[in-house]
Amino acid sequence: MTKFDDNTVQCLVCGSSRLEEAYVDEVFNVDGRHVLVEHIPARRCRQCGELTFDSETTERVRLLLHESATPTRSVTLDVFDLATA
Ligand SMILES: [Zn+2]
Repeated sequence: MTKFDDNTVQCLVCGSSRLEEAYVDEVFNVDGRHVLVEHIPARRCRQCGELTFDSETTERVRLLLHESATPTRSVTLDVFDLATA
Protein backbone atom coordinates (compact mmCIF):
# COMPACT_ATOMS: atom_id res chain seq x y z
CA MET A 1 0.00 0.00 0.00
CA THR A 2 1.55 3.21 -1.16
CA LYS A 3 0.85 6.26 0.89
CA PHE A 4 0.78 9.47 -1.05
CA ASP A 5 0.12 13.14 -0.80
CA ASP A 6 -3.55 14.07 -1.27
CA ASN A 7 -2.61 16.28 -4.16
CA THR A 8 -0.94 13.51 -6.08
CA VAL A 9 -2.45 13.21 -9.52
CA GLN A 10 0.28 11.09 -11.06
CA CYS A 11 1.18 7.46 -10.55
CA LEU A 12 4.20 7.21 -8.25
CA VAL A 13 5.50 4.18 -10.13
CA CYS A 14 5.23 5.03 -13.81
CA GLY A 15 4.32 8.72 -13.73
CA SER A 16 1.13 8.26 -15.71
CA SER A 17 -1.68 10.68 -14.93
CA ARG A 18 -4.30 8.23 -16.15
CA LEU A 19 -5.71 7.37 -12.74
CA GLU A 20 -9.20 6.04 -12.17
CA GLU A 21 -11.30 5.82 -9.02
CA ALA A 22 -11.71 2.28 -7.78
CA TYR A 23 -12.85 0.29 -4.78
CA VAL A 24 -10.45 -2.48 -3.88
CA ASP A 25 -10.09 -5.31 -1.40
CA GLU A 26 -6.75 -5.56 0.39
CA VAL A 27 -5.31 -8.10 2.82
CA PHE A 28 -3.31 -6.64 5.71
CA ASN A 29 -1.06 -8.39 8.20
CA VAL A 30 -1.87 -7.17 11.70
CA ASP A 31 0.38 -8.68 14.37
CA GLY A 32 0.68 -11.90 12.35
CA ARG A 33 -3.04 -12.11 11.69
CA HIS A 34 -4.25 -11.56 8.15
CA VAL A 35 -7.32 -9.45 7.75
CA LEU A 36 -9.23 -8.50 4.64
CA VAL A 37 -10.61 -5.01 4.21
CA GLU A 38 -13.15 -4.60 1.43
CA HIS A 39 -14.31 -1.63 -0.59
CA ILE A 40 -11.35 0.63 0.10
CA PRO A 41 -11.56 3.76 -2.02
CA ALA A 42 -8.40 4.05 -4.10
CA ARG A 43 -7.00 5.43 -7.29
CA ARG A 44 -5.73 2.86 -9.77
CA CYS A 45 -3.21 3.62 -12.50
CA ARG A 46 -4.63 2.59 -15.88
CA GLN A 47 -1.12 2.06 -17.17
CA CYS A 48 0.59 -0.11 -14.56
CA GLY A 49 -2.18 -0.95 -12.09
CA GLU A 50 -0.50 0.65 -9.07
CA LEU A 51 -2.99 1.50 -6.34
CA THR A 52 -2.76 4.66 -4.28
CA PHE A 53 -4.75 5.59 -1.20
CA ASP A 54 -5.15 9.06 0.19
CA SER A 55 -4.00 9.81 3.72
CA GLU A 56 -7.53 9.92 5.13
CA THR A 57 -8.26 6.45 3.80
CA THR A 58 -4.93 5.15 5.09
CA GLU A 59 -5.75 6.52 8.54
CA ARG A 60 -9.28 5.08 8.52
CA VAL A 61 -7.93 1.62 7.67
CA ARG A 62 -5.23 1.90 10.34
CA LEU A 63 -7.76 2.86 13.01
CA LEU A 64 -10.16 0.14 11.92
CA LEU A 65 -7.49 -2.54 12.19
CA HIS A 66 -5.91 -1.39 15.44
CA GLU A 67 -8.94 -0.51 17.51
CA SER A 68 -10.16 -4.10 17.54
CA ALA A 69 -13.30 -3.24 15.63
CA THR A 70 -15.73 -6.09 15.16
CA PRO A 71 -15.36 -7.58 11.67
CA THR A 72 -18.38 -7.61 9.39
CA ARG A 73 -17.82 -11.32 8.83
CA SER A 74 -15.06 -13.92 8.74
CA VAL A 75 -13.88 -15.91 5.74
CA THR A 76 -11.46 -18.78 5.26
CA LEU A 77 -8.36 -17.60 3.47
CA ASP A 78 -6.29 -19.90 1.24
CA VAL A 79 -2.64 -18.90 1.30
CA PHE A 80 -0.14 -19.64 -1.44
CA ASP A 81 3.55 -19.05 -0.80
CA LEU A 82 5.79 -18.68 -3.82
CA ALA A 83 8.83 -19.26 -1.63
CA THR A 84 7.73 -22.85 -1.02
CA ALA A 85 6.03 -23.57 -4.34
ZN1 LIG B 1 1.43 3.64 -13.08
